Amino acid sequence: MLVYLTGGTAHSYLHLIYIPIVLAGVSFGLEGGIIAALFAGLVVLGPLMPLHVATGEPQPATSWVFRVVLMTLVGGFTGLLVGRLRKRLRRMRWNLYHHPVTQLPTRLSLEKRLSRGLHHDAGQRKQALVMIAVNNIETVSNILGSQKADSLPAAVALAITGRTGRSGSVYQLHTNKLAVLISENRQPIHVTVRRIMGLLSEPVDVEGVPVFVDTAFGSVSVALGESSPEELIRKANIALEKARAQGRRHVQYSRTSDDTDSDKLHLLSEFPRAVRENELRLYFQPKVDLQSGQIAGAEALVRWQHPRRGFLSPGAFVPWVEETALMQSLTNWVVDEALRHAGQWHEAGHPIGVAINISARDLSEEGLVEHLQQRVAESNLDPAAVELEITESAVTKDPKAALRTLAKLKSLGVMISLDDFGDGYTSLSQLSSLPLDRLKIDQSIIRGAHEESRKRKIVAAILSLAHELDLPCVAEGIEDQATEDMLKALGCRYGQGFYYSKPITPAQLLSQRTDWAIHREAETRAHTR
Ligand code: C2E
Ligand code: MG
Ligand code: MG
Repeated sequence: MLVYLTGGTAHSYLHLIYIPIVLAGVSFGLEGGIIAALFAGLVVLGPLMPLHVATGEPQPATSWVFRVVLMTLVGGFTGLLVGRLRKRLRRMRWNLYHHPVTQLPTRLSLEKRLSRGLHHDAGQRKQALVMIAVNNIETVSNILGSQKADSLPAAVALAITGRTGRSGSVYQLHTNKLAVLISENRQPIHVTVRRIMGLLSEPVDVEGVPVFVDTAFGSVSVALGESSPEELIRKANIALEKARAQGRRHVQYSRTSDDTDSDKLHLLSEFPRAVRENELRLYFQPKVDLQSGQIAGAEALVRWQHPRRGFLSPGAFVPWVEETALMQSLTNWVVDEALRHAGQWHEAGHPIGVAINISARDLSEEGLVEHLQQRVAESNLDPAAVELEITESAVTKDPKAALRTLAKLKSLGVMISLDDFGDGYTSLSQLSSLPLDRLKIDQSIIRGAHEESRKRKIVAAILSLAHELDLPCVAEGIEDQATEDMLKALGCRYGQGFYYSKPITPAQLLSQRTDWAIHREAETRAHTR
């Protein structure tokens, strides 16, 4: 119409027709561009459109034919180019959201899906995010090669979705980690996870090779409108790591365990400062010679005077420190302090022994033997006045290394005692394999033993066995006179417990020692009378 109104094809307004042709190519691709060009060239500006409207002079055929060819080329080329660009963009998008080898949707995809769910599905569907670790991918890689190991996640995903046919709901987060979004509407999470475990109990097919997959699961309920996708993935990961650490198949995320974990991380990060800035305190609990009533020694028990959290008992931090390399600094600090105080007691005329608790890590790491040897030498103490308390669990992790360290410690002349004997984790075989000097009977069987005949018989049996093995015993957790009487009657050599004293400061120990010995003597006299 514009060309007609402006006088015909002789004027340059006809070039405006390229705009719709290019637009058609952009919008509808190759075919769209060509069709638009043909329509424009043949119908709109073709032989029916005059060269000069005023005279009605027709266009020469070469002119409109040439134009049709040119327009078709422009329309087609635009369509082709844009089509290719679009395809490449689609591919880039796909690559962004999918794993290059397995083609499974990636973490980004999962985050997108989760945020959609968190915003739009609120109140309609209850969902859970399940994280799956393929524990044996390393082994598969070593045996079958990395190429097959790389395609293992896809095989696992197929095993999970194959029967349900819901492909796309399994996401690959790492080489050995998958995530599945499941609906919690019909079944609780653990039931669905058990079903997935069932599906994976059969070997999966990895390029024709049947492979058994060893898996662990961590899951979290998708609390609608509450968490962010990153937070949900983090929680599912925490649950999964817990499952792996505890050797369990499935752990469901719980807020308390998360709080404990972050608390633990926080406390551990503060621990080096505690050692450096003297926040640790060493308390001592007397060990009593049951026959004489005199203090025979004292066990060093650590506490942490935390600037914000207050006074922390060892149960609140030692088990966590034990899991890390920080343990060495704790044990070294306890050794230094315990020997320093023992030296002072000896100098003050109270030649009592000092006992130090040693953990599994101390026995498997270098350094303890040398440190102890140096400090014992510096303290002028008789090595026999130093006792190391170990638990069976300290030896079970790496028995060879532990036994080697124990032999070296023993050669220093220090005493070795087995702590918490009878608490359910100790076995009789340890009594013959470990180089022991003493046995500490756990408080769980001492407490109430005077009233319960079965417990009493167990204590009696332990004492008689220890006697046969020539191992003096220390009974832990004595809280009353009746228990003390029973232990004396059964021939137990030493006792420790709240009946005598709670763990006290070194100053209290020194000042109370004489009072307390007098008190015991007076009591004995009254008892005899
Ligand atoms: P453990 O070595 O078996 O120490 C005995 C624990 O029993 C102490 O708890 C002590 O306060 C408590 N106890 C003693 N007598 C009685 C009693 O009559 N009744 C009751 N109910 N409890 C009694 P504590 O000080 O809380 O220490 C707990 C554990 O922490 C220790 O058990 C030991 O395994 C560990 N621990 C403490 N200090 C250290 C340390 O310096 N290094 C290492 N590796 N572990 C330590
Ligand atoms: Mg102990
Ligand atoms: Mg104990």
